[in-house]
Amino acid sequence: MKKVRVGVIGVGYLGNFHAQKYAAMDHVDLVGIFDNHIDRARQIAAACGTKAFADYPELIAQVDAVSIVTPTTSHHAVGMACLAAGLDVMMEKPITVTLAEADELIALAAQKRCILQVGHLERFNPGIMALEHYLDQPIYIESQRVHQFNPRGNDVDVVLDLMIHDIDIILSIVKSPLESMRTLGSSVVTSSTDVATAQLIFENGCAATVTASRIAQSNIRQLVIHQKKSSLIVDYGQKDITVIERSGGQTAEGYPLEEATHLPFPGQGDALKTELLHFIAAVQTRQQPKVSGVEGRQALAIALQLIAEIKEHQAAHQV
Ligand code: NAD
Repeated sequence: MKKVRVGVIGVGYLGNFHAQKYAAMDHVDLVGIFDNHIDRARQIAAACGTKAFADYPELIAQVDAVSIVTPTTSHHAVGMACLAAGLDVMMEKPITVTLAEADELIALAAQKRCILQVGHLERFNPGIMALEHYLDQPIYIESQRVHQFNPRGNDVDVVLDLMIHDIDIILSIVKSPLESMRTLGSSVVTSSTDVATAQLIFENGCAATVTASRIAQSNIRQLVIHQKKSSLIVDYGQKDITVIERSGGQTAEGYPLEEATHLPFPGQGDALKTELLHFIAAVQTRQQPKVSGVEGRQALAIALQLIAEIKEHQAAHQV
């Protein structure tokens, strides 16, 4: 099969890794990279054995597909330019800042018959992928994603920065429309929300509590899924998966007997490599990717509703 000619636009923290992963793929020709910060682009290009372009129209003209790894506020403008040129796009998450921007990207991708994948990386986390086999009917989900403060990513609030990962995972697991939601959040260190908790209730009765913070003292990323016959616990940080099965027996007190199994965390856990290989496969086969623009928009829609509710609460209480 012909090599896919790829470019990376935005090679800051994450874009550097996109460039490295593509550079190591046999069936990809990393034609070049572009970043507003030309010295950084040159440095990363040298390390990846590719070229730093002085502007992105020149790069766009020479590739079949791009990763867009610029700050979220520029996703729409850069994405529209790439799709207008007929390129397949791997857009980092969140897809855009507004739903109107996401709609324009999705419509243009459809019109141009381009692949539009959104970088909800955790879908490719081997821990999450390993759970698929055990999913039956989730009735209660608890997720916690708390990080120490990092000045990067603060162009958006913690819901778009971190919580959107869990919203996307939960939507992909529950597969039911959202019935109602409730949320609280506060701005502590930055001018936007730094810590937030949401309760999501789905039409099929499943409920989820989601906590995200970017001002924690340590990093914790954990997902717990309760089902009638089992509970599944993934600790991404500790790389631990626990499956607790309730297979019918009872304790002397009449509670379900539980048997816990720790599963090995699969592979080396290179979720980004798996995600980008999936994108390149979608480019080659023209199949819809696992996290399409439409799914990126669904997660964004819920995130924006949560943000609006947080702002309402903050305004009402002047916090
Ligand atoms: P960053 O600030 O480290 O890097 C952004 C880079 O883009 C910078 O080098 C900057 O010079 C460049 N840039 C800015 N505007 C540009 C433009 N218009 N054209 C070209 N280059 C431009 O940010 P980051 O942490 O790498 O985040 C980038 C994107 O990736 C964000 O959307 C963020 O939400 C997303 N992200 C996703 C994950 C994930 O887990 N999927 C993790 C981190 C970041």
